[in-house]
Amino acid sequence: MNIADRLQKIKSGIPTAVNLVAVSKTKPIEAIQSAYEAGQKIFGENKAQEMQAKAADLPSDIEWHMIGHLQSNKVKYIAPFVHLIHSVDKLSLLEEIDKRAAQNKRTINVLLQIFIAKEETKYGMDEKEVIELLASESYASLKNIRIVGLMGMATLTDNKAQIRAEFNHLKQFFDQLKKEYFESNPDFSILSMGMSGDYEIAIEAGSNMVRIGSALFGERKSTH
Ligand SMILES: *Cc1c(COP(=O)(O)O)cnc(C)c1O
Repeated sequence: MNIADRLQKIKSGIPTAVNLVAVSKTKPIEAIQSAYEAGQKIFGENKAQEMQAKAADLPSDIEWHMIGHLQSNKVKYIAPFVHLIHSVDKLSLLEEIDKRAAQNKRTINVLLQIFIAKEETKYGMDEKEVIELLASESYASLKNIRIVGLMGMATLTDNKAQIRAEFNHLKQFFDQLKKEYFESNPDFSILSMGMSGDYEIAIEAGSNMVRIGSALFGERKSTH
């Protein structure tokens, strides 16, 4: 199957209310172009400079999503154009995004990445850290960022019950935050969870944004 066929197959399997982020990290421009020509407009990358280089070579109506761990000193490369940053995991990163957004005279939408997996290695904030951030004066003073939801990655396991429990847990936390911190704020609406191996479970648990790489573009050679 080519990319266009795989794209149609994936899209026909997910509800229209669920947004698909095509994860194009490590994939060449031609692969992105093929998906774009087949109608895909949202692409996800996990390295700031790779995203910057690809964005310069591809149509300007693509929405670029940063999905990978982002170091503060790399924010400047994507601040002029990035559409959504899924991976905010600390206040200092949020402050840097705000500063760079202001320099570019724009507001940058972000998701807070929440730690839900059993593995120790995954990035993200725990629930206490999120609540501290949302209650802080530093956060209240940021004018050029907008928190529009949450992102999480389940444990890499074949245990579907465990994956389901982790996603259900994130959905509950999302609902709690919406009620307690974003009640009158319709911007807080995105729950980004689900990848090639687990997106069906994520959607059942309430995801409305899935990030799919290998099921669309084929396996990646490198593991980054
Ligand atoms: C690579 C990556 C994906 C896509 O993974 P696949 O298993 O190839 O679909 C999704 N989310 C994040 C954060 C990633 O780094």
